[in-house]
Amino acid sequence: MLGSKRHRTLGTDLGLRWINTDVAKVGGGGPISPKSFVCGYCNNPLSGIVGYHAVRTDERGNNSNDILAKIYICHHCEEPTYFSNDGRQVPGSAFGGRVSHIPSKDVEVLYDESRDCMKVNAYTAAVMCSRKLLMNIAVSEGADEGQSFASYVRYLANPVCKFR
Ligand SMILES: [Zn+2]
Repeated sequence: MLGSKRHRTLGTDLGLRWINTDVAKVGGGGPISPKSFVCGYCNNPLSGIVGYHAVRTDERGNNSNDILAKIYICHHCEEPTYFSNDGRQVPGSAFGGRVSHIPSKDVEVLYDESRDCMKVNAYTAAVMCSRKLLMNIAVSEGADEGQSFASYVRYLANPVCKFR
């Protein structure tokens, strides 16, 4: 388990040391501050209080009190979430909510893939997935295959389009 004392220090490369906050009461930045966020793995909201923080070390290997980044451990799924000092979360929480009763497994997979792309700031990939998603929805609703993206958008926007 990541929170155990045997994982007290994760690494010391480049004058940076990750410290388990369970044992960081003296020096190295102290206990980790609670943080509310939505876990990017299990999508549960939580207030993280268990984790690690990164501190810079001097040439003798002593820890500074300057916290450079933090990793919180989700108490639902026990996966780690990284936070930079400017607030960036990796992996981020999924964009949008779950959609129930999606009739096509292909459409559901594309929707989830697009949401996953947004978690890691892969916005171009999210756009490509979303375009393919719209094309798949149009075909599943009766449009002909092999048409242009614009024709599928027009098909979905057409008020005479009959959804099944
Ligand atoms: Zn989680």
